[in-house]
Amino acid sequence: MEKLFFSIENLTSVSKTRFKVYQKIGIATPYDLLYYFPRAYKDYREPIAVEEAIIDQKNVVSVTITEKKKPTYSSRGMAIFRAEAVDEDGTELGIVIFNQKYTFYALEIGKTYIMYGKIVDNFRDNRYEIQNPQLLKDMENPIEAIYPQTAGLTSPMIRTNIKECLQILDFYGFETLPVFFRKRFNLMPLCKALKNIHQPENLEELENARRRLAFEELFRLQLGLALLKDMSRQKTEYSMQETSMEEFYKSLPFELTTAQKRAIQEIIADMKGNFPMNRLLQGDVGSGKTAVAAAACYFCARNHFQSVLMAPTEILAEQHYATLKNFLEKLNIRITLLTGSLTAKQKKLRYAEIAEGETDVIVGTHAVFQKAVEYHHLGLVITDEQHRFGVAQRNALAEKGGTPHKLVMSATPIPRTLALMIYGDMEVSILDTMPNGRLPVQTFAVTGKLRERALNFMMKELEKGRQAYIVCPAIEEADSELKSVISYAEQLQKTKLNNWKTAILHGQMTAQEKEDTMQKFHQHEIDVLICTTVVEVGVDVPNATVMMIEDADRFGLSQLHQLRGRVGRSSHQSYCILITEHVTPEVRERLSILSNTTDGFKVAEADLELRGPGDFFGSMQHGLPPLKLAKLTDSKMLYEVQEAVEILLQNDADLRREEHKALRMDVQYLMEKYGMNGMNL
Ligand code: ADP
Ligand code: MG
Repeated sequence: MEKLFFSIENLTSVSKTRFKVYQKIGIATPYDLLYYFPRAYKDYREPIAVEEAIIDQKNVVSVTITEKKKPTYSSRGMAIFRAEAVDEDGTELGIVIFNQKYTFYALEIGKTYIMYGKIVDNFRDNRYEIQNPQLLKDMENPIEAIYPQTAGLTSPMIRTNIKECLQILDFYGFETLPVFFRKRFNLMPLCKALKNIHQPENLEELENARRRLAFEELFRLQLGLALLKDMSRQKTEYSMQETSMEEFYKSLPFELTTAQKRAIQEIIADMKGNFPMNRLLQGDVGSGKTAVAAAACYFCARNHFQSVLMAPTEILAEQHYATLKNFLEKLNIRITLLTGSLTAKQKKLRYAEIAEGETDVIVGTHAVFQKAVEYHHLGLVITDEQHRFGVAQRNALAEKGGTPHKLVMSATPIPRTLALMIYGDMEVSILDTMPNGRLPVQTFAVTGKLRERALNFMMKELEKGRQAYIVCPAIEEADSELKSVISYAEQLQKTKLNNWKTAILHGQMTAQEKEDTMQKFHQHEIDVLICTTVVEVGVDVPNATVMMIEDADRFGLSQLHQLRGRVGRSSHQSYCILITEHVTPEVRERLSILSNTTDGFKVAEADLELRGPGDFFGSMQHGLPPLKLAKLTDSKMLYEVQEAVEILLQNDADLRREEHKALRMDVQYLMEKYGMNGMNL
């Protein structure tokens, strides 16, 4: 079995040059090559009519031989055999065979053959000709695998090399899943699956092979993450003591929801434990994640540890700073803000405060993990809106103080099965209830014809003392037809909104300008904020009740849901108006999902379904190995895989048993390959 993990150089069919090409694409062993899956298949059992043949390419046709001619010889002595044939429609086809007399002799007049070969147009005889055809009955694999090609490596070459790998596999055997699983989840043996994915016997076996390999792919990943979770657990130096939270709870301007309290208890239990917390806090927009973070910071401070709250943008950092200050300062907890736009002098001062332990809670952007920042006693790191940060950034911060407790707050609700997969190395807390008294945001999708009415409606809200957002997809008028912040704001100020205070907000403004604007909006010195999606994540102005989104079809569903989440943050009824000029059936379907549900988890599921996982996770940088066959939308399989991992680890917690040896090698190999270290099996 180890032969599968030897260098691919040892294969007789792999030359030195080819070895180098394989190296370039990350294929080092026969095992890797066996997991280099075809991108498509050509089914030679499905002949086409001769008339439909693609000239100068290989085609599959089914023809009956009508005549066999005497061989002729070229000047160089090569034998040329010719025959005549017709297909079902009566279209004639010439057959030309160079040298291969056995193929020619095998053909019988009156018999029908499925053949595969290059078809050319013989103008002189006014018919097509097939050259050196292969007969289907002679073909080893009537369904032929087609591989992704790279320079210096063609599909047939890969096929040949894989054939040799499959022979090794045949000889030594290899199985990663316990028999018991294969029965329970109805999965074919690994060798059979690998053989069928590369050389399918038929389409049904190909599908079974795919299912088995997809299952295994998810299973391996999930198992690796589960083991990682266990093994990266060094004892923490930051074990904390029970502390009463009453004082904190009492100081809040609202009663916490049960979900918030439960999450806080889970977090406290983690931080009192012997291992560093590694927890994901998931909750729909507006579910009150910040208050949970504040509770964690409070608990930490009472234990004389510093905590850090890192946000992806300055606007958010500012806002969190203001919120935490409001919650915690009166309890004598010292808070400081660290962002990139501080002056060098300010930074120096704050660094000193932090290093001296004169501050308890540090809120900031990625500036919080600059080299120059030295923490005094860092016990907790919280990252908000996690998908904006790469895994590497998260880890950089975590390394700042040995192994502090980690809490990650995710802005995009992800279906639970999926969260367990993507954040498989973390514990998960979910805020599944909204604060009391919230009314679901009423959502309408309309065309531009109703813009006028929508604006009137918005102004009614302004008259009631509320505020509004108008989101546009562009900043400046380009040559596109999209609404742009600057010109639309000018237009509105001159017309409809001339009696109201408006302001613009977009990514090209300086940090200071953005901050000032947000500050004014918070304090209701601005009624309508005309902006880009800079307000998408996290911004919290409870008095705002109208969210108008122009060219709504330009945004993803999850993004629209995030934008909608900027309103509905108080007991006032809020509204989200989606305006679009492109009313196609797809747009209608997408937008109606938002009108029909305010549940972020459902929106995420629909988004995932509509866009596919590639796009959905495009910006997420989850840092996991790419999935080749498995689909993250297959929630049935995800459940099965999670069940399988649980069963396996219950029986053999660190995969020490002999029958799990292959699986252990397999998982270890995967984790090493993708730098997910800490695996010390
Ligand atoms: P998100 O989960 O989207 O980050 P926030 O933490 O910004 O949500 O909270 C949304 C709003 O709800 C804030 O204005 C916050 O003060 C308020 N809030 C949080 N928890 C509660 C609660 N239990 N009851 C009432 N309002 C709450
Ligand atoms: Mg938030």
